[in-house]
Amino acid sequence: MRHVDLKKIQKRLPKGWSETAAAANKAIKDLEKEARKKAINKSQKWQELRKPLGNFLDGKCWYCESRLKRSLTPIDHYRPKNNISEVPDHGGYWWLAYSWSNYRFACSHCNMYGTAKSRGVAGGKADHFPLWDESKRAKGPRPSPDVPDPIDSEQPLILDPTLEADPGLLWFNPDGTVIPHPVICSDQKGYFHKRATESIRILGLAQDELKERRGRHCEKILECLAEADDLLVKSNVGDATAGNVLHRRIRELKEAFEVMAEYSAATRATLMAQRGTSKAVDLVLGA
Ligand SMILES: [Zn+2]
Repeated sequence: MRHVDLKKIQKRLPKGWSETAAAANKAIKDLEKEARKKAINKSQKWQELRKPLGNFLDGKCWYCESRLKRSLTPIDHYRPKNNISEVPDHGGYWWLAYSWSNYRFACSHCNMYGTAKSRGVAGGKADHFPLWDESKRAKGPRPSPDVPDPIDSEQPLILDPTLEADPGLLWFNPDGTVIPHPVICSDQKGYFHKRATESIRILGLAQDELKERRGRHCEKILECLAEADDLLVKSNVGDATAGNVLHRRIRELKEAFEVMAEYSAATRATLMAQRGTSKAVDLVLGA
């Protein structure tokens, strides 16, 4: 998971989106619960934002960083629009159904529930939205601009890629395993540890196939880094050819670390773990 800057997303919204969203919201706001759910599911207005949201990370899922090939439902409502699994009688955050800042571009594995039989590890966000303190759950829209928005009192457990400090709560081992950040989440009873473990569980980030993909990716990163270290030694004694190849390897490693690259958070963790062992890694992370 890498940070997605909502301010940059806002600049990419299509012309007329705010009018579309306002009209869609007006059409549902006075409906009864069941009629409202039907109207929201039928409208699918958020599909109009597939391109700007998807293009932002070059088609990567904002949660697991897998590149989406094709998907019918690539937009997740971070706060679920119709139901909340943890509170069956809640009725969902219907007032955020057409709020662009509630949308997260997501692969079907992260967005939709799948069983252990179909995925190796059961997971998928679906209607899950657990909170640290259930008593703080928002029950409806902000009554007026003069009072605080009730959602600002919530402490969600699912990590949010649009918040600067959230993606860093996950850490990756070189075999592709995802774990809570060993230092930041070291208090096993704390909010951060709970958020990381619940996100791994609910989003299915420990799923076998995903772990193997990340593991193969990290293996390539380590091979490239080992080659860069070898080239560094040769370049230091005047081997110009080695020096030229070294530049290319450092560039490749930097590209794998960039926010658009698939599994770039795993790349970052793999590289950071090599500090003190590899010299070349400082050339990648340093500038
Ligand atoms: Zn995903």
